[in-house]
Amino acid sequence: MRSWRLPRAVMVLSVFALLSACTGGSAPTSIVMITIDTLRADRMGSYGYFRDTSPQLDRFGAENLFFTHAVTTMATTLPAHVSLFSSRFPLQTGVTANGKRLKRQRESGSGVRLFQQMLQDAGYSTAAFVSAMPVQRHTGIDIGFDHFDQPENRGRKGKLTTDAVLEWLADPPAKPFYLWVHYFDPHSPYDPPEPFRSVFSTDDELLDYLWDRGVREERSDEILDVNNLYDGEVRSVDHEVGRLLDRLKDLGLYDELAITVTADHGEGLGQHGRIGHGEIYNEQLFVPLMIKLPDSLGVAPRKIERLVSITDILPTLVDTLELPVPEEDRQRFSGMNALDRKERRRYALAQRSSFRRLKAAKERGTREKFALVGLDWKYTLAAVEDDRLHDMRTDRVELFNQVSLEPERAADLRDRLLAEIARYSGAETDFEVIEETAPEVLEELKALGYLGSGDE
Ligand SMILES: [Zn+2]
Repeated sequence: MRSWRLPRAVMVLSVFALLSACTGGSAPTSIVMITIDTLRADRMGSYGYFRDTSPQLDRFGAENLFFTHAVTTMATTLPAHVSLFSSRFPLQTGVTANGKRLKRQRESGSGVRLFQQMLQDAGYSTAAFVSAMPVQRHTGIDIGFDHFDQPENRGRKGKLTTDAVLEWLADPPAKPFYLWVHYFDPHSPYDPPEPFRSVFSTDDELLDYLWDRGVREERSDEILDVNNLYDGEVRSVDHEVGRLLDRLKDLGLYDELAITVTADHGEGLGQHGRIGHGEIYNEQLFVPLMIKLPDSLGVAPRKIERLVSITDILPTLVDTLELPVPEEDRQRFSGMNALDRKERRRYALAQRSSFRRLKAAKERGTREKFALVGLDWKYTLAAVEDDRLHDMRTDRVELFNQVSLEPERAADLRDRLLAEIARYSGAETDFEVIEETAPEVLEELKALGYLGSGDE
């Protein structure tokens, strides 16, 4: 027997009629999500950096909601993106390293869906433009996107990604859209194009900056080069985001869009003996977060100094924009609305990437590394070395361990951290994660520095 189906156009219209009813008559908001891989918050002018690395983003932040303390859940690309798009912690999603493939588990398990799936089901047109291997189609993160654009090889510069997005915007979908744009420029290898490459060179201010962050005896020419080139990459990607925002304005779309700009994680750049990421030091965990709401909501620009986890981004958007996301999806959010007037996040949980180290930790009979980040204190549960306690008001750069000076506080935070870990550790993870990675993908990840270098 033939199944009865509504013509697609009627179905789309019905969905929008329903949406309009839900949102008090206004059209559903189109949403842009910009994730800038490896963009460390404190390397942007608006987050206090001494160099003018991010004029476009700074202006965007000043004109919108600017969150001063946003923390990722894991300083690794795929896990952080899955966490952001599900409002779940890596302990829950099961995605704790790059190079793995996630499979939807709706039939057999938790039913967790990614943001793009929720919006696609709600009638949105969904499109993604990604710039590098860790979030390409082979990972399964393309699920729920009508259009998924990725580079042919392991990565592409921001200019090419912006060009691809602008081409798509030349013929925008007739219905509300969700657009995810992923830039990769600040990630290694640091190779900014001119004119951005030559903007920054070593000066006394950089030497002081690194000294204050504990990069002293080990400060090599390589570390200095890395810092200058990284800043050039940030300036370069800032230019690309500016180009994208300008086009949205030219097209008359900008005013009524919701636009989020954030990052999956930061970068070591020599601090704590690390160049890359995958660890849980603050320079790797703190990310920029700026949200533009539709002008019609009349929300004044402001600086928001509360603590935010990237798991909070989805609940914030869903609540504030009154998105047509089913209650069963909302109930699975582990984050909270970062604009909630009554409730504020006190701590944010972060976890170290587990690609090789999980095996190493198991062999040594030790634990994975976790951190509980607060605006006042941060506690780090170590895998092999000693636990750490840092005063976030005086030691954001984590140079003075106070575990022995503040034993009671340390014990209390340790208990809280263990409780958080227990809270998010279930018998079954959200996604079935396939461990085997194709050899060619492993090669590409190696070339990006994910394997064998100690950075993940
Ligand atoms: Zn990344």
